[in-house]
Amino acid sequence: MTAPNIPGQPHIAYQGNNLCMEGVKLSDVAAQMGTPVFAYSKASMLSALAAYQRGFEGRKVQICYAMKANSNLAVLQIFAKAGCGFDIVSAGELARVLAAGGEPSKIIFSGVGKTRAEMKQALELGIGCFNVESEAELEVLNEVALSLGKKAPVSLRVNPNVDPKTHPYISTGLKGNKFGVAHESALQTYQRAAQLLGLAVVGIDCHIGSQITEATPYLDAMDRVLDLVADIEAAGIPIHHIDFGGGLGIDYNGDTPPAADQLWKQLFAKLDSRGYGQRQFMIEPGRSLVGNAGVCLSEVVFMKPGEQKNFCIIDAAMNDLPRPAMYQAFHQILPVTPRAGEGTLVDVVGPVCESGDWIGRDRTLNVQAGDTLAVLSAGAYCMSMSSNYNTRGRAAEVLIDGTEVHVIRDRETVAQTFVGEHLVKA
Ligand SMILES: *Cc1c(COP(=O)(O)O)cnc(C)c1O
Repeated sequence: MTAPNIPGQPHIAYQGNNLCMEGVKLSDVAAQMGTPVFAYSKASMLSALAAYQRGFEGRKVQICYAMKANSNLAVLQIFAKAGCGFDIVSAGELARVLAAGGEPSKIIFSGVGKTRAEMKQALELGIGCFNVESEAELEVLNEVALSLGKKAPVSLRVNPNVDPKTHPYISTGLKGNKFGVAHESALQTYQRAAQLLGLAVVGIDCHIGSQITEATPYLDAMDRVLDLVADIEAAGIPIHHIDFGGGLGIDYNGDTPPAADQLWKQLFAKLDSRGYGQRQFMIEPGRSLVGNAGVCLSEVVFMKPGEQKNFCIIDAAMNDLPRPAMYQAFHQILPVTPRAGEGTLVDVVGPVCESGDWIGRDRTLNVQAGDTLAVLSAGAYCMSMSSNYNTRGRAAEVLIDGTEVHVIRDRETVAQTFVGEHLVKA
């Protein structure tokens, strides 16, 4: 079996009978590291970033990688070295950026529930911008800044009420969402922010959802945001930067999201036509930078034929790959060394004690116990969402760079999973 080109996966291909990432056989990675293990292609991340950079030539754009997609320190290091800032959502993520060598001034702090302690830490470090999501947060941030004798740089995250046409759990820009300030009250909230002495209004932000595969929701949201910028500036409040968030989708299963450079060509055409093309912009891509750079390698533990379904039970589970259980998401699953002959229809499932613990349903695979499977498109929202459910240590991670394999996270030991727990004295 040869599949020279796996859709959406320029850095993963069969060479002969071996599935390879860049110049490395994935069967070798599984043999050396054990399974489950995540492998990420550095070239894939950098080429995803380059697509954005091509779209931004001649423009002023700061790319802030939304690190919740994949927050391994080595991944952050790659993006920091490439000049990226970071979109963070917690003090924990802030600490990771610093540990990876990121610059505080290029950090955007998003999220609906920032605590006072988190605000204080971020202010003391001098982060670039707080993307404020409510009036209550505005007031508290002002208090915290005043208590430190500082001015907090703020953008308001506005909710453009645009349907990104994605899964409801990852749609964030509609009226019923917990995120952002309603479009209708945004001007009023900006006027309030401008009065508060602990705040400096620097920008405006929107982020409408994730795994967006069409340009239209972006174009619509952009129109809505630009209308607001005009109103806010007419009220005497300058907007120094416009942040369009993240959300661009990837090809999981024949999805056809616009390429980043093509999308931005369209968006800049609109910005130019409205006279905003030379402003300072920010974007916060996550999934589109790392999603298709990663695979999870997992060994088949047992084949379990059944009356209604055949199960292929693998050693990765919903605690490693939570997207199918959470969003009914699809991940392509391929054998790393395919066998000759016909496959059979199987459900690929993990060992966790939940019926929701499935990785792929109704897949045609020709596999036996002991074979290694690659779960594709596992670079985003997999390891970063992983847990210890069923007291399973988290997987190891490697970074592949040409023919080199760098271990970027050791497999978590069982002992590590209960560090910090205490027996009660009898
Ligand atoms: C999650 C998130 C992103 C990144 O979304 P992707 O779909 O991974 O690109 C960007 N901005 C904010 C505020 C987010 O919450």
